[in-house]
Amino acid sequence: MHATSEIIIDGKAIPYKVEKTRSRKWSVGFKVTPEGIVVRAPMLVPDIAIRLILKNKQNWIVKQLNKIHKQESPAAHKYINGEVFSFFGNPYILEIRESLDYLRPIVMLETDHLVVCLPLIVQENKNKKIKELIKNWYLKEGKRIMNEKSEYFATILGMKFNALHLKEVSSIWGSCSRDQNLSFSWKLTLAPKNVSDYVVIHEVCHLVHKHHGKQFWECVKKFEPNYKERIKWLKENSHTLVL
Ligand SMILES: [Zn+2]
Repeated sequence: MHATSEIIIDGKAIPYKVEKTRSRKWSVGFKVTPEGIVVRAPMLVPDIAIRLILKNKQNWIVKQLNKIHKQESPAAHKYINGEVFSFFGNPYILEIRESLDYLRPIVMLETDHLVVCLPLIVQENKNKKIKELIKNWYLKEGKRIMNEKSEYFATILGMKFNALHLKEVSSIWGSCSRDQNLSFSWKLTLAPKNVSDYVVIHEVCHLVHKHHGKQFWECVKKFEPNYKERIKWLKENSHTLVL
């Protein structure tokens, strides 16, 4: 959705787009989508009136947005046996093993299982502890894999990067600094492989082109001709990337 404006509702900036109709009736229609509000209004209705109507309908809008969010966000994990976790687009079944033989907790992949080994002592807040262990594993393994991907594409371009960071808190998917350091959001580990690949390609192309000009996009396109699809996926699905 190409939003033309934003309106503050419930403390949040909600994008909205106005589609002007040729109707002679002064009726205004609304549709709440995951990306914002679509308003259908006759040409004659001024923008200020649309904003007023939106403000008047804010309770309804908040309700609709909450509904959409509930539908779309996958249920958060409970961290129990049998739950499925996605790692770079592959599904893994959680398997918790408890034994006094384990001196310390271990997280690892075994074919299609994400295995968490726990010394039996862990009883209190066990699920919270498992969540923490899995999150740390995602951060560590995710960094290793993002590093491999970045090296792969950088080598093809004949470029090198310095450090690579996987950020736990980030409002952006990736960045490439002036001194050739790469940063990525850890949430990419939860996205499909072609999506994390796209973000890596994007930042690695910045090693060569420090802009978003034609040459830059040509570089991206060489590796990922469907990059626009990946951008769209990120825009529409970022709220589903939860551990
Ligand atoms: Zn960029």
